[in-house]
Amino acid sequence: MVKYDTVLIRFGELSTKGKNRRDFINRLMANIKDMLSDIEGLEYRKTYDRIYIKMTDQDPQCVKQRLCKVFGISSFSFTEKVDTDIEVIKARCLEIAQESDKQTFKIMTRRHDKSFPMKSDEINRACAGEILRNTALKVDVHDPQLAIRIEVHANETYITSDKIIGAGGYPAGINGKVLLMLSGGIDSPVAAYELMKRGLKVEAVHFASPPYTSENARKKVEDLATLVSEYQSDMRLHVVNFTNLQLKIYEKAGDPYAITLMRRMMFRLAERIANENGCLAIATGESIGQVASQTLESIACINDAVRIPVIRPLVCFDKLEIIGLATKIGTYETSILPFEDCCTIFDPKNPVTKPTIKKAQMHEAKFDYESMLDKAMETIQTKTVRLSREREDFL
Ligand code: ATP
Ligand code: MG
Repeated sequence: MVKYDTVLIRFGELSTKGKNRRDFINRLMANIKDMLSDIEGLEYRKTYDRIYIKMTDQDPQCVKQRLCKVFGISSFSFTEKVDTDIEVIKARCLEIAQESDKQTFKIMTRRHDKSFPMKSDEINRACAGEILRNTALKVDVHDPQLAIRIEVHANETYITSDKIIGAGGYPAGINGKVLLMLSGGIDSPVAAYELMKRGLKVEAVHFASPPYTSENARKKVEDLATLVSEYQSDMRLHVVNFTNLQLKIYEKAGDPYAITLMRRMMFRLAERIANENGCLAIATGESIGQVASQTLESIACINDAVRIPVIRPLVCFDKLEIIGLATKIGTYETSILPFEDCCTIFDPKNPVTKPTIKKAQMHEAKFDYESMLDKAMETIQTKTVRLSREREDFL
């Protein structure tokens, strides 16, 4: 039996060199260790372009599922580590072929240690010859059913017949911090995932309007933050009490401009929270055209309220694409739970689809919103959420 005892992790062709490369690898290594922290007995090793995890009797399925969630990994394989000895390598290749039920194969060798006396192609041919002589398998270099990969190093060689595609992107947290506006909907958790994939550490802010929004709605947002936090290990969540501002907006601005004003106020608060917490940008789950507040006119009018950069990872995504991603990352089921967030409760009948900055400012001039923003800032409750492995299956 071939014993796949070492996970070989590839992080693709990095364009970065020197310190950036070291930072990338160190961060990736830390993130991988964090993702697997509850699995005992794993041994980690990193080289210039690979990370290796030595396993003993840990569950490979669990390791595989977890590694698929680590950004910065381009692919990984469960390999067998053997001595760098051509006879041993040939024998292991043959064993892999014999254990498979495939009809065609190809050998792909990569020589990290150029002092090994055989070139990659010679190793390919030696191993292929061994399989051709002893099995009914045929070579197919274009579309093989079985691809055996061999990585030859000075003292050890890794052999594998699988290659699992990783999550790609950059190691979470390597590119700085961003503050995401997190509602209880489908879109913003997906936006969190996309931001993390670009190596950003995401903090979240949620605007709650108790008693108009329930404790369940707040809990739902916390669950979403917890679920998506797994991709970056943990997440800080700031919850702001938005009730007074919201009531005031409805009193002063009335129906058509209420949503516009509400969102301008949310952006202002998000900008302040971002500045206080070292986040260089704010982010939302907005997508062009999805609802009244997401027309280009509306986005322009809302964006006018802040100076900080606003990132909208989903701006050109279709709703179906977003739902597909939400399902993949495991947030969809929670997102569709029927607890109201503040926007749906105060849903105006005729929201303006083409608001202007001038009119928004005119409505805002009717009340002293700055002092209300100050007061809202005093209500912030912050906590750090993290997916506990016992809860993993229940969420
Ligand atoms: P989502 O599915 O993310 O709720 P949506 O399609 O419901 O989005 P809107 O309600 O217009 O769209 O919200 C657009 C974006 O504004 C959200 O993606 C989120 O980033 C932010 N947002 C909306 N409501 C809140 C809230 N109560 N707290 C924090 N952010 C919010
Ligand atoms: Mg929403």
